[in-house]
Amino acid sequence: QKKEQEKKEIVRTTSDEVTATDVKVNVSIPEAAERAAKTNADGVGLLRIEHMVLNLNKHPQFYIRNNKEEELINELFEGVRKVADEFYPKPVWVRTLDAPTDEFRSLEGGDHEPHENNPMLGFRGIRRSLSNSRTFKLQIRAIEKLSEKGYDNIGLMLPLIQDPNEVRKAREIIDETGLDMKEIDFGVMIETPAAAILIDKIIDEGIDFVSFGTNDLTQYTLAVDRNNENVSSLYQEKHPAVLELMENVIKKCNERGVETSICGQAGSYPDVVEKLIKYGISSISSNIDAVHEIKKTVAKTEKRIILESVRQK
Ligand code: PEP
Ligand code: MG
Repeated sequence: QKKEQEKKEIVRTTSDEVTATDVKVNVSIPEAAERAAKTNADGVGLLRIEHMVLNLNKHPQFYIRNNKEEELINELFEGVRKVADEFYPKPVWVRTLDAPTDEFRSLEGGDHEPHENNPMLGFRGIRRSLSNSRTFKLQIRAIEKLSEKGYDNIGLMLPLIQDPNEVRKAREIIDETGLDMKEIDFGVMIETPAAAILIDKIIDEGIDFVSFGTNDLTQYTLAVDRNNENVSSLYQEKHPAVLELMENVIKKCNERGVETSICGQAGSYPDVVEKLIKYGISSISSNIDAVHEIKKTVAKTEKRIILESVRQK
């Protein structure tokens, strides 16, 4: 009962805060959508599709081989719809499949998955979608169905982008489906230093937003495996190199009218969020349990920035 009371308290106070910088929430499974929406977050900054797929225990190839593609499309459609309903008309950014090969291998029909020495540097994210466009298109088809049903709050986000070529190729594949890109928000995750460095050219490809995947951006910037406990003390999401990459990207994006956000774990840390607000980020997406505190941090930081600028005049 105490927990229920605490939950209600969170709902009441968070809904009171109004901030210029949106505070969104990460949703990993559709079943969490209701709890996530109760935080009164300004939308979903990351909806991970892979959990919807992994929870089915069948490899996407299983559906393709057995002519059951519609079944998988419907599962994804229903999963995303549940979240989109909870948040409508607030935006929900859906990230396409991003699981490493070892996770795909454990699924029925996943025996063919390659054994990799370093799956996190391997066949995952957008690279997988580009070389296996049929699975990619199933996901796009689910989003297209939502769009057809009138959901105009859906965004599509590509993981592990390295350079503008990958964005272009992904768009070409999407164009082969019936999805009208004008109907949805289109963005990429910035989680490789390469993407951060090439941000200008990536913007040239026509994106509406970027979102920092700091879990990966940290591991690739610092060359520290995020799952290796031997080097866990070196895994620093607040490292100046990671922060500087984000600052530069935000600056470029603001110059060119592209929305910026963060959906990695660092978006749930008040001290990082404070810095990102000062850099000019458009929104923060944090864990369900962190939304309340992050809203307060955002409100406090914005007020301080306003006061500082007024006093300087
Ligand atoms: C990230 O890398 O920060 C991220 C949000 O994606 P994931 O943790 O799923 O790799
Ligand atoms: Mg990632």
